[in-house]
Amino acid sequence: QNIGDALDLRREAAVPRGVATRGLWADAAQGAILTLADGREMIDFAAGIAVVNTGHRHPAVMEAAGAQMARFTHTCFHVAPYEGYVALAERLNAAAPGAFAKRTMLVTTGAEAVENAIKMARAFTGRSGVVAFGGSFHGRTLMGMALTGKQVPYKAGFGAMPPEIHHAPFPDPLGGIDEAEALAALDRLFAGAIDPARVAAMIVEPVQGEGGFNPASPDFLRALRERCDRHGIVMIADEVQTGIARTGALFAMERAGVAADITTLAKGLAGGFPLSAVVARAEIADAAPAGGLGGTYAGNPVAAAAALAVLDTVEAEGLCAAARRIGEAMTARLSALAAEGHGIAEVRGPGAMVAVEFGEGEGSAYRPDPARAGRVIAGCEARGLIVLPCGTRGNAVRLLPPLVVDDATLARAMDIFEAATREAGA
Ligand code: PMP
Repeated sequence: QNIGDALDLRREAAVPRGVATRGLWADAAQGAILTLADGREMIDFAAGIAVVNTGHRHPAVMEAAGAQMARFTHTCFHVAPYEGYVALAERLNAAAPGAFAKRTMLVTTGAEAVENAIKMARAFTGRSGVVAFGGSFHGRTLMGMALTGKQVPYKAGFGAMPPEIHHAPFPDPLGGIDEAEALAALDRLFAGAIDPARVAAMIVEPVQGEGGFNPASPDFLRALRERCDRHGIVMIADEVQTGIARTGALFAMERAGVAADITTLAKGLAGGFPLSAVVARAEIADAAPAGGLGGTYAGNPVAAAAALAVLDTVEAEGLCAAARRIGEAMTARLSALAAEGHGIAEVRGPGAMVAVEFGEGEGSAYRPDPARAGRVIAGCEARGLIVLPCGTRGNAVRLLPPLVVDDATLARAMDIFEAATREAGA
């Protein structure tokens, strides 16, 4: 019995089934390479699900975290605050889209950032309604789950959702929803299901992540901004997956030239340490009373130090430009592959956030092919490349390379993806 199978058995006996695993037991990681417990060296295009944008164990991030660990690892910011938290807040306030005064609070996970964004919007507006989008993913906490626009496996069976949460369709051309239809449905929602004057917040991913790397166009985001302005609704951009250089800009909303009132960040922010942020318009952030926001572990000092080093690294190594370059290289290879067929319905996504959707047919005859996507993922894994599924139809494969990946490794990853895709059709 190999070491991975033995660990799988122990996992099955000790950890709940709902906590799904892939069987890629980790031993060590550096840059774009993950070494497994059984000794296999894998090119890691999951990047911890868009977390190690600066690569595994980036030296600058390790050094900053190590220096902080030598001083203290926890005091609780509410008890004995530390400068790193404030320095990171200042950096994010200055960098996030929107020429207005901002405040940043730090928490630990993406879901927690989303929870706090909603709390701020409700405290500021005195309203309780929230509009989210079909196919979205916002986390597994109660509010995060309620906002998420997919039942299985995220919501079904987990009981009553908080009231006054409504979903509008997100544009999904392959699924038969264009942007005009998505906007018309939003307007119907406001005319029918919920009075916009009761809506505190609208939350949108500028590029849906778990939902399949579906980009919202600049026009669509501008139209949402316009509706939020018209109805006094706080616009929240959930940049947990798109943020920190992934799409070729520090924030995906920059690409659309639209500023949300609140931006949520996590994943790439601290280069592998658990940290998330809520960057909000000052008056919205300050609406909650003292003591209403925060948490024991919120804004851990080691993670905050790592995040400052991540932001330095993104700048020093030009990782936004790197994301664009990597994205162009991947898209060129994948589009050439799609031109040959292989059941590829679409190659999409900005910067180094690229997904390949598998399916056949057009319009109402479109048939998604999740089985083929599964074979591609397995074929990649067998050849030494880790990629992840995504998409509301389960038929897309996402490529999330660390933005420090070198050209040779990137080319090898694309060779593997190509071989796995060819084989998956046979
Ligand atoms: N929002 C988005 C857009 C995400 O992609 C995710 C995680 N995939 C979350 C929220 C939740 O983040 P976390 O898993 O850290 O709670």
